[in-house]
Amino acid sequence: MPNPDQQISNQRSTSRIVSISGIGIELIRKRIKHIHISVYPPDGRVRVAAPQRIDDEAIRLAVVQRLPWIRKHQERLRNAPRQPERQMLSGESHFVWGERYRLDVSRTGRPSVELKGGILWLTAPEGTDVESRYRILDRWYGEQIEAVLSPLLEKWQPVIGERVESVTIRRMKTRWGSCTPTKRSIRLNLELATRTPRCLEYVLVHELVHLLERSHNARFYALMDRFLPTWRAIRDELNQAPLSHAVWGPSSTGEVD
Ligand SMILES: [Zn+2]
Repeated sequence: MPNPDQQISNQRSTSRIVSISGIGIELIRKRIKHIHISVYPPDGRVRVAAPQRIDDEAIRLAVVQRLPWIRKHQERLRNAPRQPERQMLSGESHFVWGERYRLDVSRTGRPSVELKGGILWLTAPEGTDVESRYRILDRWYGEQIEAVLSPLLEKWQPVIGERVESVTIRRMKTRWGSCTPTKRSIRLNLELATRTPRCLEYVLVHELVHLLERSHNARFYALMDRFLPTWRAIRDELNQAPLSHAVWGPSSTGEVD
């Protein structure tokens, strides 16, 4: 006989708007273990994702506790120069390994990306459209991850005692990474190149641990605690900071799958 909690947690996520301390909040119930609070650009919209079984009062308390953090982020977003869409124009902020750079697209020529003195120089032939510029930048982000991937794999595969067959780096809308244990293949979101290097390391370790344990069960988390004791703080860093400029959908905080 299925237990009632299981039935509830098998439902798809539900969403409603609640007001906590005068802030309108989108509250989403889904199959997760912890409460995640996110503040989204451009206007500081707040979304709370909570496990199905936590009651409203506990969520209210968690939000109240984080009010200073929420207000700080809303304030920062309100004061930030608006970047309404993916324009790839000079002056926009773009992140590389957690550092903010100012985009400059004034150079024309063979496609290339270069960092110099806080500037992200994106060179493209005259008349290159926004999407093509994004493809140039995405390809470069992928190369940045590739460049550090080998040392990371050399470091972690012996520790975990498993080897991967392939690592694919691509843009994903809702996942920071995923693993197919049967194929020993891992996929990493190239957006990780915008985050601090430890975020990439955490996601990679998480996916490698899936070669030992497929499910997010107690054994999985015990292995994570053993291999990377600081993983919870890094996961929170990944989930709490909204994406820098890209327009992502409702699941944009990203999950590590
Ligand atoms: Zn996972």
